Amino acid sequence: MPSSPSALPDFALVGGGIVGACLAEELSGQGASVLVLDSGTESGHATNRAAGVAVPSLRYLNDREFYGWLRAAKLDLDADVARLEPRYGAFSVARPVLRALREPDIDTYGGLLDEVGVGTWIAGDELAAATTGLKLPPSRRYLLAEDGLMVDGRGYLDAVLGRCRDQGVTWQQGCTVREVREDGRATAIRTDDGTLHADRVVVTAGAWSSGKGLAESTGVRPQRGQMAVLRTEETLTCILSSAYYLAPGVGDDVIVGATEEDAGFVSHVTTEGIGQLLRFATTAMPGLADSVPVELRAGLRPVSDTGRPVAGAVPGHDRVFVLAGHAGHGLLSARMSAKGMAAGLLADDWDALPRSMCPAHARGGVA
Ligand SMILES: Cc1cc2nc3c(=O)[nH]c(=O)nc-3n(C[C@H](O)[C@H](O)[C@H](O)COP(=O)(O)OP(=O)(O)OC[C@H]3O[C@@H](n4cnc5c(N)ncnc54)[C@H](O)[C@@H]3O)c2cc1C
Repeated sequence: MPSSPSALPDFALVGGGIVGACLAEELSGQGASVLVLDSGTESGHATNRAAGVAVPSLRYLNDREFYGWLRAAKLDLDADVARLEPRYGAFSVARPVLRALREPDIDTYGGLLDEVGVGTWIAGDELAAATTGLKLPPSRRYLLAEDGLMVDGRGYLDAVLGRCRDQGVTWQQGCTVREVREDGRATAIRTDDGTLHADRVVVTAGAWSSGKGLAESTGVRPQRGQMAVLRTEETLTCILSSAYYLAPGVGDDVIVGATEEDAGFVSHVTTEGIGQLLRFATTAMPGLADSVPVELRAGLRPVSDTGRPVAGAVPGHDRVFVLAGHAGHGLLSARMSAKGMAAGLLADDWDALPRSMCPAHARGGVA
């Protein structure tokens, strides 16, 4: 392990989920030496449990800068799919996305839906043709976009890990970081097995990022999400976005997700949570009543007080940084945020990251 100043890695990353892995790939791809320390028996927590809908959520539409950034993130993810799948195996499937909007949603978003070009309004026969098997309430209005994508989080992470290996990233699994501290001209990283050093440290520990001794002041906390994988003979051809998502998975299964719960660090599935999801699924697609729930998952999304990722120097530190808080869009936005973060770390160019992601804003509750 690097311990003498001459062997210092340029960067140590605390946490190797999709966010840490994408950042490790970006930094090492530009010549930096990178050490990733991850506490799990395998890397990724939320990443491995995600539903996998890679579509910007309309909840961000009123923040034009951030919504635009998420749309750009989708293009970066498309580029990842094209670049990584031929070499590391398929982890995605393209599907149209159908958004079911209630009148109050339409009032909230106003003209933005058409101005931003979220999709095409469809109704009548056109709607019926696009949504075989679904039972859609006539009280909603429907927007269809062709550019939806489903991503298997574990498969995506494996592909990025493959790139990290090829680029010489040092990866230490099963290593829990207890404290990160600036120590003269380096940064000390206290683990259960001793203290390591790196020039700079980036905390990419997902929901654990604001833990004691890490990026404490940045307000990242866990939000539990539950989802279910249903095996069925029925065919679902689009991603339905309504109260929850109902989506064709990367294999043949149908995915229903996900709850958003404040349950601290409790990360098991509950009867109530899964019950809500299954009720939604069978109401939206009655043929799923005969489906078999083959997998139930719960995980902790990292969320911040601003509702945006937190990216930049931890306030009061020169050598300790954070990239976390990707909420329910981490598969969609990990690459884009890692590219912006790498530009900041390597070239002091922070322009690619929306201002609302700056850690100095994180405690202020900027909407
Ligand atoms: C049920 C559910 C559904 C979701 N659906 C979607 C979706 O449809 N679309 C989408 O884009 N996103 C979705 N997400 C969100 C997405 O999964 C997350 O935003 C993303 O995976 C966060 O990645 P991460 O790398 O920050 O965190 P994680 O994947 O949680 O990785 C954090 C890593 O840090 C490590 N770590 C923690 N503490 C320490 C420490 N002290 N020392 C060392 N290592 C540490 C952990 O072992 C872990 O490997 C969903 C999440 C859940 C739970």
